[in-house]
Amino acid sequence: MPDQRSVDGSVPPPRRIGLFGGTFDPPHVGHLVTAVNVAHELDLDLTILMVANVPWQKSGTREITPALDRLAMVEAAVGDVEGLSAGRTEIDLGGASYTADTLEALGDEHPEAELFTIVGDDAAAGLKSWTRFGEVIERSRLVVVDRPGNRVELPPIVDWIRVEVPRLEVSSTDLRERFVDGRPLDYLVTEPVLDVIAQRRLYEFESEVLRS
Ligand code: ATP
Ligand code: MG
Repeated sequence: MPDQRSVDGSVPPPRRIGLFGGTFDPPHVGHLVTAVNVAHELDLDLTILMVANVPWQKSGTREITPALDRLAMVEAAVGDVEGLSAGRTEIDLGGASYTADTLEALGDEHPEAELFTIVGDDAAAGLKSWTRFGEVIERSRLVVVDRPGNRVELPPIVDWIRVEVPRLEVSSTDLRERFVDGRPLDYLVTEPVLDVIAQRRLYEFESEVLRS
């Protein structure tokens, strides 16, 4: 990305901001490849990997890694990649995470910016069931990440932006299963994320439950 500093050295505020939300338990290369490619295609100044505090779609079904540990992993994943950042807005807002609230907070923080909500094809298909869906489309443009050559059918009431991104068949669910039975995570998760996992001893409980 070009250096965005102006002549006097100040960094202008981001004009186009992508919101890429997830549980990120753990964040993997599929998330990162998506974030950098969508940012490139849409010329985003900033793409925020927003860590869900309590993901309402997932709570109750399994133990979710504490939000601050997931944030530490996402911070390690984005590292110093220009234009990517780890978002903690939903953690700071507390409670259940709704994209409508997140967009409102981002809009207050960056009143000049145009916001883009980025979702994978699976999440996009179920979008109408999102809480306060109307506010989401009022406050942002919706971006769906398509697999190359495979466009999912989407609710036509939204003026979707479609971006094709190489699809890596990685999921956090599969990665957690790999922890349980000791298969390697190398190259599926970046090294700095593996370091955070080791330092904080994440996912060990899941392996212990299975072995006991
Ligand atoms: P889980 O298996 O726990 O559901 P996940 O790998 O799907 O985890 P999430 O945190 O649920 O990850 O996903 C966050 C966002 O990333 C969603 O919009 C989802 O569609 C997208 N996503 C998930 N996996 C991939 C992938 N391999 N490539 C691109 N996008 C992905
Ligand atoms: Mg998922």
